[in-house]
Amino acid sequence: MTVTAIKAFEDNYIWAYEVDGSVFLIDPGQADPALDYLRTSDQPLAGILLTHEHYDHVDGVPGLLETYPNTEVIGPAETKAFATTIIQAEDTFERLGKTFQVIPVPGHTKGHIAYLVDGKLFCGDALFMAGCGRVFTGDYSAQYETLKRLKALPDASEVYAGHEYTRTNLNFALSVEPNNAKLKEVLKDVEAKLAQGKPSLPSTIGLEKEINLFLQANTVEAFKALRDQRDNF
Ligand SMILES: [Zn+2]
Repeated sequence: MTVTAIKAFEDNYIWAYEVDGSVFLIDPGQADPALDYLRTSDQPLAGILLTHEHYDHVDGVPGLLETYPNTEVIGPAETKAFATTIIQAEDTFERLGKTFQVIPVPGHTKGHIAYLVDGKLFCGDALFMAGCGRVFTGDYSAQYETLKRLKALPDASEVYAGHEYTRTNLNFALSVEPNNAKLKEVLKDVEAKLAQGKPSLPSTIGLEKEINLFLQANTVEAFKALRDQRDNF
């Protein structure tokens, strides 16, 4: 079983989760890069998972269904314009012989969910490497609780986020904690990966606990202050 990053738009990732030659795509915001990937890797599309309603995570679905009709599209209620199977937060479901756990991660959008399968967390815009999504709902306590929920996952959980924002996130973190040696070390590693055209992701929950200032915020107020600072960075 493997996970591959498919680049979309400027800095989105569509994740391809593959088990025994069957592919699940997570958050296909664009059809063309995903179709190219499926053609090149010569693997059938077995299903699509959506984390939240934003266009850059769902707009590729109709184009994919033109080529792969009747593909199951699983998503939360807020993606009902695209999803064929609406999933509830905290559900579990079986596909590809695997158990997918659905985790509610509201804050960025109201109905945002994440999927945990095989120790891999597909979290859309709820959590980024060294960052988190903007709180478009204005519900900072929901996003704060979301981060606490994610922080409680096993340290080895791999984090597959929806965007390549890591460099900017680390630079922001260093503007807050200029002497943080761990942040500097991770930024160096990330710069090397990006220079080779590789994604900085996946991260892990264990690493995020060390470098993600948003996960380290101990109160909703501290979290909101940090988020406001990042919004203006
Ligand atoms: Zn989003």
